[in-house]
Amino acid sequence: MSWYDQAIIYQIYPKSFQDTNDDGIGDLQGIIKHLGYIKDMGFNTIWLNPIFVSPQVDNGYDVSNYFAIDPILGDTNDFSEMMTKAHELGLHIILDLPINHTSDQHPWFQDAVNDPHSIFRDYYIWHSEIDGHEPNNWGSFFGGSVWEKNPRNPDEYYFHLFDKKMPDLNWKNPEVQKSVADIAKFWLEKGVDGFRLDAFIHIAKANFEQDSLDSSTKFPIDDKFYAKLPAVKDYMSGFVKEIKAFKPDVFLFGEASSAKARDAAEYTRPDEHVCDVVVNSDNYGEVYDDSNPDIPKFFQDRKLSLEMLKQTYVTWESILDHVSLPTLTWGNHDISRVLDRLNLPVHDDKITKLLAMMLFLQRGIPVIYYGEEIGMHGLKYQKVADFSDQRAVDLISNLRQKGFTDKQILRLLNNQDEMTARGPMQWDSTQYRGFSKEKPWNWALVDSNNVDQEIADPDSIMNFYRELLKIKKHDCFTSGDYRLLITDSNIYAYQRKTADKQGIVIANFSDQKTEFTLPKTVWRKVLTNESSEVEDGVVKLGPWGCCALESN
Ligand code: BGC
Repeated sequence: MSWYDQAIIYQIYPKSFQDTNDDGIGDLQGIIKHLGYIKDMGFNTIWLNPIFVSPQVDNGYDVSNYFAIDPILGDTNDFSEMMTKAHELGLHIILDLPINHTSDQHPWFQDAVNDPHSIFRDYYIWHSEIDGHEPNNWGSFFGGSVWEKNPRNPDEYYFHLFDKKMPDLNWKNPEVQKSVADIAKFWLEKGVDGFRLDAFIHIAKANFEQDSLDSSTKFPIDDKFYAKLPAVKDYMSGFVKEIKAFKPDVFLFGEASSAKARDAAEYTRPDEHVCDVVVNSDNYGEVYDDSNPDIPKFFQDRKLSLEMLKQTYVTWESILDHVSLPTLTWGNHDISRVLDRLNLPVHDDKITKLLAMMLFLQRGIPVIYYGEEIGMHGLKYQKVADFSDQRAVDLISNLRQKGFTDKQILRLLNNQDEMTARGPMQWDSTQYRGFSKEKPWNWALVDSNNVDQEIADPDSIMNFYRELLKIKKHDCFTSGDYRLLITDSNIYAYQRKTADKQGIVIANFSDQKTEFTLPKTVWRKVLTNESSEVEDGVVKLGPWGCCALESN
């Protein structure tokens, strides 16, 4: 058993957590300030979105120097202080490591562009033009082609799966694998406990001289050419063996947004040397409203489907059984916050608590996005022009051309765009919610939820999360087997079992009162989101009620 088998992860978007130098941007000192809060809430692991030096084209995922902290966040001394204080409190720190690409400002890329004989040329992917245009029609995740002209040689292109200012590394080159391992070892020496391996499923690419058959757009996104190719495992294994040999208990948290359960099993099998767990962006039980073909999938309205949620988790739990732990999450910085995204039938604390209990007591590692523990909604922007991320800008121009009004577009953006989820943490009820004295770098209307208020209220979402995370640490909810219990279509119920203890969770996904007959044994109620009664082996739940029980 490794320490991370009991990890309860708190995801912090450092630019938005706490500003301590009044520039409107969060910083490492801000994280240090709240380590006590994080510990007290019951988290034991922190994942920080990228903190390395970056031109911030993609909020830190475009790194120009992997060996230093971005000055907007702090410096090496702040980093060391954060590590020491976190470790003193028993908190582990995971850094986000973009391994698929660098910034175009990285010295490797600059040298490769400026010197045709540079040893770093082969660190990137180049291709000469074909018939006067891009080598193929593959589309970038950030829009347009994956190919951009070499600024010093117009006959040649470089490859970028994300922004054109984020050229992809050429993982075929063993020197790249070694250089990325050196970066990881540098931070491990400074005490880091693990890495989120950003976009690792994309490091291998297919033969470039073929086009996608998708003719719906000029540059279609076509995963088969650059996601989950078999060579990913070959490229990763040398790198992973090297860093595991350097620090055997390093936690490798592989980010694979499109991964299915079988992919996760394949990458986390101990003999494969790829990663310890996989986190995807797909397990939210969402059904999309695709009735209007003009709206791209990412921005379509969604609804929570309990049936789909059950199917998802019974699949992940079954396939990963005896392989690795699933990750349990309602969202991250790449999508809107769960309470905005799911279009829930009612807005009240009960549902928020139910979603948390239902998900996090399952077998797996909870990954909780900052602010979720106080039921924070995303930012609500007031006009479409306030959105500046590329995906939003493209949507605005496309939908305007198709006759959508700004009001309609604004609704879609406020419900789905990732920037709404990257707002300041709400610490108190002051103007900028205690995040900063200055206007935050990302700011719009916010809800009134805040830590100060919730601490004082025993029934708050925050106090519920604190209790829930305590319970998560009980043996049966950390290491017990998982079994979905077949119930009526509005109830999600499952059982967790070790050799001598068991737990059960029942969640009523409806506004009707309901009853659930417990398996025969003596049960003890441990947490509920409202008064629920247990009488003669029957749990009586109110609308959107949930209840966790244990027995030993
Ligand atoms: C991150 C995104 C980022 C992309 C490129 C994703 O996995 O979560 O925020 O834009 O990788 O680095």
